[in-house]
Amino acid sequence: METKGIKQEYKQRIVDTGNKMVSLGLTVGTWGNVSVRDPETDLIYIKPSGMPYHEITADDVVVMNSKMEIVEGHRKPSIEFHFHIAIMNARKDVNAIIHTHPIYSSAFSVTRQDIPGISEDFVQIVGDKVTNCKYSLPGTPELAVNVVEGLGDRNAVMIPNHGTVCVGSDIEGALKICHVVEKSAHIYILAKILGTPEVISDSDMDAMQFFARNYYGQGK
Ligand SMILES: [Zn+2]
Repeated sequence: METKGIKQEYKQRIVDTGNKMVSLGLTVGTWGNVSVRDPETDLIYIKPSGMPYHEITADDVVVMNSKMEIVEGHRKPSIEFHFHIAIMNARKDVNAIIHTHPIYSSAFSVTRQDIPGISEDFVQIVGDKVTNCKYSLPGTPELAVNVVEGLGDRNAVMIPNHGTVCVGSDIEGALKICHVVEKSAHIYILAKILGTPEVISDSDMDAMQFFARNYYGQGK
């Protein structure tokens, strides 16, 4: 059955991003998941549950709607579809979500510590810090409530003893957030070994975020 508005290119983005997550070392095996929303149709494309990334083809991608109903697909969607769709319903600026099980960020999530704003890239695109949301079991509607609350208006949140959730206006942006969060967690841990890490001041964070929003890049 052909449903109007379903786009092959969006399915392919799920496949390609999953493979990039694995090659960047942000997740292993079948864990983690990816979703993308098409702002034209509001349809949400999501990774199938429990399949190794290298085996997933565009045909396996599941298409859902904002009511968490399956619109098209012969596979079961990722068990974390609740929080993917709950975030998209809460944040109209978010069209892509990547959930990873990364090493260094997870050291913060198992000790329930924030990842503080210690580097320029992090402060500009992620937020002042990344916190842990309230704990819930994977795949539950309760976890979706906690992830949305913990994320707030930042672009990343950690799930305690589990992993991170990174969001963006598009899939490249969300992947960049995942990469920068994990890099900052790694730097912070190394810096702690070397000495006392300095966190960027609130006023400098504000200045960098203002610059990133208004002036950074070509043609602004
Ligand atoms: Zn997970």
